[in-house]
This record gives sequence, C-alpha cells and structure tokens, in this order.
Amino acid sequence: MMNWKERIDEVKETVIEDTRAFLRHKSVLDESTASPGKPFGEDIARTYNWLLQKAENEGFKVKDFDGYAGHIEYGTGEDIIGILCHLDVVPEGDGWTSPPFEAELKDGRIIARGAIDDKGPTMAAYHALKTVKESGVSLGKRVRLIIGTDEESQWRCVEHYFRNAEMPVMGFAPDADFPIIYSEKGICDLEYSRKLEGKSENDQLALEDFRSGQRLNMVPDQAQAVLSGQEQEAVTGAFRSFLESENFTGDVKTNDSGQVHLILNGKSVHGMEPDKGINAGLELASFLSRFSGWDSESSAFVRTLGGTFARDSRGKTAGIAHHNEELGDLTVNLGILEFIKGEMSRIGVNLRYPETADFDQAKEGLDHTFSKGSYTGTIITHEKPHKVAETSRLVSVLKDVYERHTGEKAELIAIGGGTYARSLNEGVAFGPLFPGRADLAHQPDEAIHTEDLLKATAIYADAIYELAK
Ligand SMILES: [Zn+2]
Repeated sequence: MMNWKERIDEVKETVIEDTRAFLRHKSVLDESTASPGKPFGEDIARTYNWLLQKAENEGFKVKDFDGYAGHIEYGTGEDIIGILCHLDVVPEGDGWTSPPFEAELKDGRIIARGAIDDKGPTMAAYHALKTVKESGVSLGKRVRLIIGTDEESQWRCVEHYFRNAEMPVMGFAPDADFPIIYSEKGICDLEYSRKLEGKSENDQLALEDFRSGQRLNMVPDQAQAVLSGQEQEAVTGAFRSFLESENFTGDVKTNDSGQVHLILNGKSVHGMEPDKGINAGLELASFLSRFSGWDSESSAFVRTLGGTFARDSRGKTAGIAHHNEELGDLTVNLGILEFIKGEMSRIGVNLRYPETADFDQAKEGLDHTFSKGSYTGTIITHEKPHKVAETSRLVSVLKDVYERHTGEKAELIAIGGGTYARSLNEGVAFGPLFPGRADLAHQPDEAIHTEDLLKATAIYADAIYELAK
C-alpha cells in the first residue's frame, strides 16, 4: 500500500511555499474590472490564470471555461472523480495583526485571507493530485480538480461550469469541515411583500418607517421604527421599560417633525440557527404589536411578525414545525423586515428544512400566515436538500481514509448550512477544518496550521487514489 503521508512529507516545503504564493494573490470579486473571459474582475482572473498556468507547466491537462471555472485533470478512464474547490475569497475586512495578502508564517500557521477558505485547501488538493501523478500509479478514472471563482457570492462559476462540462460520478469539496458532511438541509429564500396605501386617520398610531436587517441568512442585529400619531408618548414610555425588563439596549429619538424613532439592538448570528441570536426586527415588531391604536397597514405588519414569528424560529405558530433526528428542526429566519409608509412593505424569509419535511406544505403554511396581513410571497432561490447515502462507496472510502490518517472515528455530519459540495450530484464536504480547530473563515487573521495543511494534503492524495484506482 502506498504511504501517502510519507510522499507528502517529501514535498512539504513545496506545498507550504506554493500555498503562500497562491495566498499572496488577492482574489476578491471586483465586477468594476470585469471583461469577457474575466467575469469576476482582474484580481480573480490573475489568480485563476496563475494556478492554471502552474498546473499546465507541471504536466497537467487543464481546461478553462470562459474564466468562470476550470479544471486540472489527471488520469484516464470513463468516469470522473471531481474535487471542487474555489479561489475567490471574501474581502479582508479590518482587525488583522498580519497583512491579509502576505501569507506570513507565524507559530506554525500561515495567516492570510483564504488560508482555510478556500485557497489553502485548493493548494492541498492540487498537491495531492500532483503527488498521485508523480508516484506513477495508474488510475482507472479521470480526476478533475474543479476550480470555481465565485463561491463567495453567487456560484455563477459552477453554474457555468456544469452547463458546459460533464458532471463527475462522485466527488468531494474541501471547503468545510472534517470528517464528512453528507447531509445538508434544503434552503429557500422567500420574499413576502405588499404595496402600502399609506392611509391613516390623524389620531391613529402609524408606522412611518420600519427597517431591520440586510441579508436573509443573517439574524438582524438592529431595528429602527419611526412612528407618528397621538399615542406616541405611551409607546415611548413603554419602550423604555421594555428595554429595561428584557435587558436590551436601544434608543429613543424625536426628529424635527415630531416623529419618534425607536431603535432596538439585537444580536446577529448566521440564519441557520436563529435561536443563537436576537432578532431585533422581530423583537421590536413584537413590542409594537402590544398597542391597539394602529392604522390597518401598520397593524398587519406588526401583528403578523410579532404574533407569529417572534421567538418562534421553528414555525410552530405558522403550523410548519418539523423535526428530523439527524438534521434537527426546520428553521425560519426573518432576515429583512421593512415597512415604508405609502410605498411598500417586505419581509424576507430564509427557510431551512430537512429532507423529511414537505417543502410545499411549509411554503403553504408561510403563504397562509402572511396572507392574513395581505402579504404575497415569491421564491427568490430554492436549493433542495442535499444528501449522499451513508452506505455509498464515496462515504465508505472517505471514512476509511480519514480514520487511517487520523486514528479518529469519521463521524458523519449533517448540517443546516449549505456547502459547495451540493453543486455535485454525488458529493460530500470533506475538510479542511479538523475537529477542535477554531473556524477562522471570513474572520480577521484567517489562518491554517501548516501541520493541518500537510495532513489534509495526504488525506486528499489517499482519497484520490482510493476513489480513482
Ligand atoms: Zn469556501
């Protein structure tokens, strides 16, 4: 049996230096510099061409699909094994103690934007394939390292790639956690909206404006409501005691036209587990729904939200709750809540459901609930649940390989999030983050331990060989 760990040890300096060189290329989406063949801008194109050129120089067959995505191939045979990676990174943001695009080596870690997500793992997979190629073993399948360039925004890379290239029979994406993520919830973004007439009697309490949240997959961390009408003082007083009794922070202001602004701070977390955060929009709407003097449009907004979804991320009140042993509960995150008097109101929903839930029923339940406030819904995006059978060859091979290299049991993971692996028909997420390591993806001082980088490289080499031999 080939000892892949030893083989990788022999080239470890090269793996580390190539990874650092790759990380020094800034590869953030910049559509202002996009042009034909460079759909995501100059920086991504330069990084992408650097990698494809390197692969070609090192003896691989490479193919580019109009700058959206490409592959690096080795092996012969009918079937294709796919390894799906991406080289685009999220913007660096603030708070770094090392420059984000210099790939400094400190205390056994490479620090750079993209170190763990996903340029480090991409280079690990590249060297895994290169080591397999140079070991002289013969493969009965073609192995394609598929390089995406738009994972962090809209996945236009894989969309374009799979329209033009063959779908692998199976594969993995080194873009999440070890051991193996084999099951992911379905994810649907919906928008419920209505036009607003803006009619209210003088003495009625009215919402002039309400805004909370910017992204459907995040729990909003702030909400602001602008009120008019006569009961404002009662509302203001009650709001202050509400903040105190609930231990919330917030603010009350009055603008030049005498309208009251209520500001409530919540806690933002990823929308896949809304209960870990505090939805500022729902809390504020729920507070406002206690008052009875609202005009009808304002009332529909605050009661639909406060009465149904506040502190109920499982959709119990809407009658759509569902639980699955592996994947947990169906969840509902209201990520955008807006009301602009005289114009429109919209509520953005991020629904996540296990494959055992009935999507149509859940959608109907939401439609019905929002229709009580005269809101109608449209689906913005819908990704079906993604699952590879536990008994599949893919899962059993990767399990064996992982256990052999780590001495740990390869527990299968089911998650509410979506990984890049769902772009493959038969694909799982496989690394690169080892259990117990802090997840620094998208954070300042993103880093990868060189020890983990090399361990992942050996695991990927072994996996490629076992899947394609
Ligand atoms: Zn990623």
